[in-house]
Amino acid sequence: MEEKEKTVAQQRREALLNQPKNGYDRLSAEDEAAMRTYCEEYKRFLDAGKTEREVVDEVVRLAQSKGFVPFVRGMAVNPGDRFYRVNRGKAVMLAVIGQESLAEGASIGAAHIDSPRLDLKPSPLYEDSELAYLKTHYYGGIRKYQWVSIPLELHGVIVKADGSTVKVAIGTGAGEPLFTINDLLPHLAGEQSKKSLGDGITGEQLNLLVGSRPFKDDEGSNRVKLAILDILNEKYGIVEADFISAELEVVPAFRACDIGFDRSLIGAYGQDDRVCAYACFAALMDIAIPKHTAVCMLADKEEIGSTGVSGMKGAAFDTFMSDLCDAQRVPLKACYEHSFCLSADVTAAFEPNFPEVYERANSSFINYGMGFCKYTGSRGKGGASDASAEVVGFVRRTMDAAGVIWQMAELGKVDAGGGGTVAAYMAERDIDTLDAGVPVLAMHSPFEVTGKLDCYMTYKGMKAVYMAG
Ligand code: MN
Ligand code: MN
Repeated sequence: MEEKEKTVAQQRREALLNQPKNGYDRLSAEDEAAMRTYCEEYKRFLDAGKTEREVVDEVVRLAQSKGFVPFVRGMAVNPGDRFYRVNRGKAVMLAVIGQESLAEGASIGAAHIDSPRLDLKPSPLYEDSELAYLKTHYYGGIRKYQWVSIPLELHGVIVKADGSTVKVAIGTGAGEPLFTINDLLPHLAGEQSKKSLGDGITGEQLNLLVGSRPFKDDEGSNRVKLAILDILNEKYGIVEADFISAELEVVPAFRACDIGFDRSLIGAYGQDDRVCAYACFAALMDIAIPKHTAVCMLADKEEIGSTGVSGMKGAAFDTFMSDLCDAQRVPLKACYEHSFCLSADVTAAFEPNFPEVYERANSSFINYGMGFCKYTGSRGKGGASDASAEVVGFVRRTMDAAGVIWQMAELGKVDAGGGGTVAAYMAERDIDTLDAGVPVLAMHSPFEVTGKLDCYMTYKGMKAVYMAG
């Protein structure tokens, strides 16, 4: 059929207006097939790692299978070498050495692998009214009412008095017990229901139900607590005091799954920010020898401000980079000033149920691809790294050249709230940095939702950054 000649107005519209189409109207058959495979692997990755430690273990396992070896200070560093270094079991850095010297800079993808959750307190176990509970202290920005009346698992490590470490992952295997935090029945919730959403459930009410059966043939108090400790002692060889030196995390028991009749979405816990962490990591696994050294940084502690030895403010990243630079006799600062970083962290997808907190023209939308944010922050960009026009321009060109479907967005409307990422801490190192990531619905809830197209495009975008000239 012969195409009608376009009017001048139509031609000018196409040339001048920015009118993005839904990603599914732009997706090639080849990309669609790759997207399906990628998302199946991503869901498997989510189920394998529900804590930062488990993600590190899974990343190392996968990296080793793709030829990555631990980087030890003093090793030679040559083009094509594939290295990784684990920081205290809770963060991991990987690199594929490029053809050019590190003096020409590195292409960095940085994401975080910690997620909002409930940590156990140092003295958590108690019995009340012949029911046993574990006290928790929430980690990161949670809405407390979302964590009651759902199935929960317990993951982490316990360091015993003798220094040995026990790994715990209760609820992952088939038929294993789960835990829960009880809410009030509506029949008796009259007063609670009058409270605001933020006050309805308090932090001190987030107590995990872990048992009810008393120790038999015992006349003492705390018989249920004693029976629970007896089970833990038999299974893990621990005593109550060992909780003091433990890191135990309560996480949702949901498996990652497809959402929707059309299976176009993924529902899972911890997609902030494992959806970007997986994209950064999977893209690095899949590249051959890049021009510039490609680096994937998977950080801990972003949800509480990137603090501590395993957070992005910590020195471990600098030490890793400077060890690589030393091998090529390059000053770290010379590498940094020529480097580029995509700070890959999720952003808030427009949710038509709550349009009042978004500004449509500057929101990210599900199925519109990888989302870029020039700045994050709150109250007038406070705390943002605010990338330069030149940096955004570089990323636009790189994405378009690689056929990546992408969008530009802010996290919510002005003064509706805000958020931060590791971007500012990369920028403080003298590294040009831009925020980028997957738009998420119900972010920070126990069950977050992403679009498969956006997940895959973020992988494709990361690959483009690693391979950029
Ligand atoms: Mn995040
Ligand atoms: Mn977050």
